[in-house]
Amino acid sequence: MGPSFLVLSRRFVSTNTIFSSPLPKLSKKQLKSLTTTDLLIKFGYVKQPHAGITHWLPLGLATLRNFEDLIRGRLREGGVLETSLSSLSHSSLWHKTNRWNNEELYKLNEDFCLAATAEEEITDLVKSYADSYKKLPVLVYQMTRKYRDEKRPRGGLLRGREFIMKDAYSFDVDEQCALQSFNKMNEIYYSIFKDLKVPFVKANADSGSIGGDLSYEWHFVSDKGEDTLYTCDNCHTTGNIEKVRPYVEKDAEPAEKAAVTYALTTNNDLVCFYYPEGKHLNIKFIEAEDIIDLNTRIVDQKKVLDIFGSENEKSDGFKSIIRITDVGIGPGTEMPDMAVPFMKSRMTTFENMELTEVQEGDRCSNCEGIGHLHASKGIEVGHTFYLGKKYSIPLDATFVDRNGEKQFYEMGCYGIGVSRLLGSVAEVLRDDGGLRWPAIISPLQVTVVKSPAFEDASVDDNCRVSRLVQDLDTLKVRVELDEGESGLGTKLNKSKQLGIPLQVIVGKAFPKVEIEVRGVISGDKGMRAIESKKAEWGFETREVKGIVKHFVDIDHAAEVIRLMLKDL
Ligand SMILES: [Zn+2]
Repeated sequence: MGPSFLVLSRRFVSTNTIFSSPLPKLSKKQLKSLTTTDLLIKFGYVKQPHAGITHWLPLGLATLRNFEDLIRGRLREGGVLETSLSSLSHSSLWHKTNRWNNEELYKLNEDFCLAATAEEEITDLVKSYADSYKKLPVLVYQMTRKYRDEKRPRGGLLRGREFIMKDAYSFDVDEQCALQSFNKMNEIYYSIFKDLKVPFVKANADSGSIGGDLSYEWHFVSDKGEDTLYTCDNCHTTGNIEKVRPYVEKDAEPAEKAAVTYALTTNNDLVCFYYPEGKHLNIKFIEAEDIIDLNTRIVDQKKVLDIFGSENEKSDGFKSIIRITDVGIGPGTEMPDMAVPFMKSRMTTFENMELTEVQEGDRCSNCEGIGHLHASKGIEVGHTFYLGKKYSIPLDATFVDRNGEKQFYEMGCYGIGVSRLLGSVAEVLRDDGGLRWPAIISPLQVTVVKSPAFEDASVDDNCRVSRLVQDLDTLKVRVELDEGESGLGTKLNKSKQLGIPLQVIVGKAFPKVEIEVRGVISGDKGMRAIESKKAEWGFETREVKGIVKHFVDIDHAAEVIRLMLKDL
């Protein structure tokens, strides 16, 4: 045992940096009520100098890098090539795809914008290389900063003006190959989210029409989510409420009574939506149909009718009225009286439209009404799109096929907001005691602290602690021995509040160490392996003052910790 044991390689982040040490003392109430972003700021992960803008501090950056490494590793396994495009993108490309007139684009001048996404640039880049079918498919990605001029940035890392995004793109010779690339990327997404061990679901982002399963939203399932998802208890498909359409039974009885909601067009014509009483109207469904230009800013019903009334008077009663009725409305349905004077000749009617949202217990249209739909909440963390030729045609991106003919690429694009993902994991897993990270992305996985009982320990015993840290380091466990000034309780609290999955205490029980678990347990593979060696390693579990503690001989602690981390 030489002095080299005391020289630890410091490959990993330390919590003892000027940015995070000591942690602010937060009351239980504060810990519970602070937003997740405020926790990340108070604990020294990030700093937000302005709304929607994030500075990454050492602890936050280490965590972000772990997310990136996880994603990068899975993409590399799938053979997706990494690139990194400039953040400056030329307007000429955006004009071609008709996307330059987007208020959320950060335009620097007439020529350049800060890239918000890269369909234009990457397509233009790939077309100069993959000019033959022999060079396809191409699957590329980048993990870079993106910019969006959010008028109302919110949620800290969830919706920022600048964010880190992993955006991937696929280029194929035909639809069939493009779908293979699309499926492959979805499999990669599945393994990324599975690695994170946060409950997730893949939701249909298309309306479910034929050939529509070509775009998925990936959501963390959490009551804290903003999106409402519906999952069928029979066919198990999930969809966002914005996209799921109700099951319409053939020859179903029409609703007894209709409800009405009024709206204006941008031209101040009146729109009357009729739908079964008790159902919820979703105007977005009509917007998607593209049959009228709705003014969605004025929703107050009295205001809508007042505006229409005065405009109608001005034009001598010649303003149009557009009636839109839901599929659930039929000849027998009792309709409400018209709220304004009207001329039949100025009235247009669209019938059998789908206007209402699904509700808890509704029947599922995907399995022909066999299953019932149940609601849950989700946070969107990824999206996969099959694009077809949407971008290759306007950008004139072609290759020469087998027969020597020019063809447009069949494309797909695939996004994960990496900084948003970090914020979402923090949001979903935090509890009243602070943050909790999954072991795979935690900035540190283990904190080792010496208790006052160890103060007078011999040099040899201290060497055994150093060796434990060294062994963990060798096993690629991210570990820190906290030798700061503060007391045992403060050090443990700090480690737990920061969200580090395991705390190891050396002291009272020496040569056994105590292990406390802060992380979320989501498996038992590691623990089962430990159980089988229990006697040999001196491993036992006891509750001490309401806290579950694991004890193990220090010489076997590294192996036990490695196994425990598998379940966290
Ligand atoms: Zn179903």
